[in-house]
Amino acid sequence: MHAEILSIGTELLMGELVDTNSSYLASELAKLGIEVRWVTKVGDDPDRLFEAIDRASKRSDVTLTSGGLGPTSDDLTRETIARVCGEKMAVQDDLLEHLRGLFANRGFPMPETNVKQATLIPSAQAIANPMGTAPGWWVERDEGIIVAMPGPPREIQRMWAYEVSPRLKARNPGIAIVTRNLKTFGISEGGLDEMLSTLFKSENPLLGIYSKQDGIHLRAIATASTDDEASALIAPMEAEIRRIIGDDAIWGEDDETPESKAVALLRDEGLTLGVIEAFTGGLLCNNLTEVAAHDAVLNGGAAASGRDALARLGVSAALIDKHGAASAEAAEDMARAAREMFGADVGVGISPLALESADGRVVAGTSFIGYSMDGRSDSTSGHYPTRRLRIRGRAVTHALLGLIRFLRCQSLQGPTLRR
Ligand code: ATP
Ligand code: MG
Repeated sequence: MHAEILSIGTELLMGELVDTNSSYLASELAKLGIEVRWVTKVGDDPDRLFEAIDRASKRSDVTLTSGGLGPTSDDLTRETIARVCGEKMAVQDDLLEHLRGLFANRGFPMPETNVKQATLIPSAQAIANPMGTAPGWWVERDEGIIVAMPGPPREIQRMWAYEVSPRLKARNPGIAIVTRNLKTFGISEGGLDEMLSTLFKSENPLLGIYSKQDGIHLRAIATASTDDEASALIAPMEAEIRRIIGDDAIWGEDDETPESKAVALLRDEGLTLGVIEAFTGGLLCNNLTEVAAHDAVLNGGAAASGRDALARLGVSAALIDKHGAASAEAAEDMARAAREMFGADVGVGISPLALESADGRVVAGTSFIGYSMDGRSDSTSGHYPTRRLRIRGRAVTHALLGLIRFLRCQSLQGPTLRR
């Protein structure tokens, strides 16, 4: 079975909006063993949209569209699919009633333009959209399947996961793909490559190595006729990887992030966290709050960078005067002060950035990250080229990976922490 993805919307062609829906769908289709042959972006123009959908539906088994299901006159996906199929759209009473109900719940009368969101053609079934107003369309004809989904990422991702993916999976029996992602730290990419060289020769599962901001990822992909068989192929490879590189070198798996892993470790140990951030100005706390369970572990955070401001938070001014604010000593004292200030079991301190110049230009900076808990204190440092964007994000990832190590009583020295 092969598929084609159409991302619909003029903003996509103007560079105003980055098309993340097609990459989401492409990675999801790969998991189902469905080959993606084309990805197209097309604007809200009736004729070009017709050309794109018509061509896709003729040459591909499955055509997946994103966007253009809204109520306005430039949302043309439904009208165009109807034209491609040569069928007439008709308002469905049950869909209309549901739509009016959604508006009534929000206390608004439904604008008449929304009526078109309650239409179908004879070949189409509605796909529920609990995150929005526009249902999707599942269109089934001899020529193949067309699936129309909404543009907002929350809506399309939910519709894909609960409605579309299971139906496509049922249509593509006999192929199951299971992936396993092991996220590592402390060993360089070259080192891993060498240690695992025999495993990289395996074809099924296929092992890939990817260098990411949060370390080196090892991803195994197995193909079989059922999920269980594919998982059974992966298990011995995973065991072998763990035996060779050691569990200490693996900080997380699959969808785990440095944030979610750090929160989970703190929660499992019944520990709370306090943070003082200089260079990152609160970004570490901000990122932690994206993890649902953060409120059980994050006692509080403060952002401050000047000597006096840090001293007001309880950091030793004498230590800063002696070693500088950008130092391991100051970072560890920030961590201690964070624990005291927020009554937390574990403290993290991120120092200001010590800048390095060459030829009168700032080229890089070093930030120190300190950790403190009862009877134990440690630090690491990160060296960041300032030309790169998002170095604050990098420092936060670095701080979280360090926290995971610190909580596991592992050494903070290692190549991934020096990138
Ligand atoms: P709505 O009912 O919100 O109008 P829609 O199905 O008509 O939904 P669009 O109008 O095409 O979808 O897009 C709505 C919003 O969804 C866009 O403003 C954008 O934020 C997001 N979006 C649309 N297409 C994409 C895409 N390909 N990748 C990422 N985000 C997208
Ligand atoms: Mg729209």
